[in-house]
Amino acid sequence: MATKKPSCYKRILLKISGEILQGGSGFGIVPHVVAGIANEIREIRDLGVQIAVVIGGGNIFRGLHAAEQGMDRATGDYIGMLATVINSLALQDSLEKIDVHTRVLTAFEIKAFAEPYIRRRAVRHLEKGRVVVFGGGTGNPYFTTDTTAALRAIEISADVILKATKVNGVYDKDPLKHEDAKLFKRLSYLQVLRKRLKVMDSTAVTLCMNNDLPIIVFNLTKQGNIKRVVQKQKIGTVVS
Ligand code: UDP
Repeated sequence: MATKKPSCYKRILLKISGEILQGGSGFGIVPHVVAGIANEIREIRDLGVQIAVVIGGGNIFRGLHAAEQGMDRATGDYIGMLATVINSLALQDSLEKIDVHTRVLTAFEIKAFAEPYIRRRAVRHLEKGRVVVFGGGTGNPYFTTDTTAALRAIEISADVILKATKVNGVYDKDPLKHEDAKLFKRLSYLQVLRKRLKVMDSTAVTLCMNNDLPIIVFNLTKQGNIKRVVQKQKIGTVVS
């Protein structure tokens, strides 16, 4: 008897923080970590899922930290946005090495090695089975890549944002510091905003709330988790 295929999301936006790419090294890009993520992305590509990715830049540069040390905030943010392009290219390289066709689309023009972001073009790439990586954040200072993820997910009509983290989901306090931290299975957008829970920044959560876009926060460091979450298994925290 043929086994029933588990149902999957059709189109997802995967948000990966820059910090995940640095592994345990504390800075930059660790190639085998990126290769591991690329392998997991290939697995879900093989399920027929359309995949868009937003990567942060926190493993290289954060505008806010630079501003705290005296740099002009907008300039710091421009550098931060460039850092996200660096990470996007690293992921593209790892994906294409394992035959996953990938396009990096940037919010500002860097035509020598990436395509400028055009919404309809991004959707076309997805329909053709290519992975799309959105680099350069929103293109504007004072925003984050969480907000980029929310904005792009809405623009391309993604079913869900999968927010990858290093812990199992959203807790009432930092689980790395407190043994008794409680994991939330489900939260409403308003609970996240009111309790100031660290899911995504409030601009991103508000965008998702106003456009009915669910967020699933899950642990990327456990192998196979992207596939589990895409197949709608109950892991992590669902914000809806
Ligand atoms: N950034 C920005 N505008 C955006 C997205 C990002 O100015 O639309 C800058 C900002 O300086 C931020 C940096 O890029 O600190 C890296 O992004 P983020 O902090 O979101 O990365 P993550 O924490 O996910 O690694």
